[in-house]
Amino acid sequence: MDFTPERSDLLDKDRRHLWHSMLPYNAASPPMIVTEGAGSWITDIDGNRYLDGMSGLWCVNAGYGRKELAEAAYAQLLALPYYPLSQSHVPGIRLAEKLSEWLEDEYVVFFSNSGSEANEAAFKIARQYQQQHGEPGRHKLVSRYRAYHGGSAGALSATGQAQRKLKYEPLGGGFLHVRPPDSYRRPDGMTEEQFNLLCAQDLEDAIIWEAAESVAAVIMEPVITGGGILVPQQRYLDRVQEICARHGVLLIIDEVICGFGRSGRKFGHHNFGLKPDIVTMAKGLTSGYLPLSATAVRRSIYERFGSQGDYGHFRHVNTFGGNPAACALALKNLEIIEREGLVERARILGERLHAEMRTLLAHPLVGDIRSFGFLLGIELVADKATKQPASAETVKGIIGQCKSRGLIIGRNGDTVAGFNNVLTFCPPLSSTDEDVTFICETFKEVMNNQLEGTPVA
Ligand code: PMP
Repeated sequence: MDFTPERSDLLDKDRRHLWHSMLPYNAASPPMIVTEGAGSWITDIDGNRYLDGMSGLWCVNAGYGRKELAEAAYAQLLALPYYPLSQSHVPGIRLAEKLSEWLEDEYVVFFSNSGSEANEAAFKIARQYQQQHGEPGRHKLVSRYRAYHGGSAGALSATGQAQRKLKYEPLGGGFLHVRPPDSYRRPDGMTEEQFNLLCAQDLEDAIIWEAAESVAAVIMEPVITGGGILVPQQRYLDRVQEICARHGVLLIIDEVICGFGRSGRKFGHHNFGLKPDIVTMAKGLTSGYLPLSATAVRRSIYERFGSQGDYGHFRHVNTFGGNPAACALALKNLEIIEREGLVERARILGERLHAEMRTLLAHPLVGDIRSFGFLLGIELVADKATKQPASAETVKGIIGQCKSRGLIIGRNGDTVAGFNNVLTFCPPLSSTDEDVTFICETFKEVMNNQLEGTPVA
């Protein structure tokens, strides 16, 4: 297929026919038309190269241009392009087994195509499990403000960002939200530890006040990513696990971004020694090369299904979930991550990125810097004393200046709450040392220009 007609013609067709996610078409700043990628770098239709400091949308962990991944999918497409998982196929079996190995515990895996679907499946499994466990009233799901869990009805209901929900309410019933452990914005006079424990107590209070016998599960990421890289203390997650166990509430851990090495361990929750009942994953499972997601369920929970005749089965079908080519590609992706030691590499690169960026804490616009493996958030403020978030113009201006120097970074938080002020760095785990040098030097140059009064825009 030839995809190389004129840029202006393509942009015109883009404007007329393509509905982009998140941003409306803006003639003053039209979308990049990306044509190629290699390693951590992408190239647009005009031949401009950019270091993709966001791995696409937190996906391309193994980097761009991996021929081996394309070949794994190609071979599987020729052998067997499709068969539903009401029966079985070899790549599906092998991948499910491999994911259990990566999870370092015994899990049974249900495949879907996206992170949202993986979370929807988790909610249904949690509710049905509770019913079949003699707890028919347990249907509520608890999550945190600022967290993102997906765009479909249930996953959006669990999402705690007003900007994503305002125009679409009312959403599903039975979802409630609690305070996230945003230590930077803790109340004055409180230590970080006191605040983390307060947030955990908030969760327990919500469960108690809602009536524990009405709550099916809690869903959380190990570290809130899209809501601004909010890293909890170990004690917070210890308490969360203890609270869930004490009240008979399942713990669902969303590893859609934190999984597959991003955190410097295979899964984000491994850093905290958590033992989740259900783990959801997507994005990095295939490094974004094909759509695939998974809901891994602890074997003891799975065994509850099917124990009551036909009615006891999980009544949930996903036509494309566990597509053989996507499973074959995912297996190859995991093999590459293991072979090249990318989990360990993420830890090393993340430590370096954090250490180098920390010098920016002296910058008047930088309120806080937080990291989790090879994932970094820099919170920009207009005033360090009041912590008033930097304006959208300032944040966008810095991102624009990075882009004009060939570096793509992200921005996260919640526009409605006024906290869309966290610059986000999530480069491929396969990045080279030179790539990290480029990220740090480019970003610091842009930040230093702000000091010299260079207009932001
Ligand atoms: N959970 C988290 C933590 C995510 O970041 C996302 C997507 N950004 C999702 C779920 C939803 O994934 P998808 O867009 O593949 O549906």
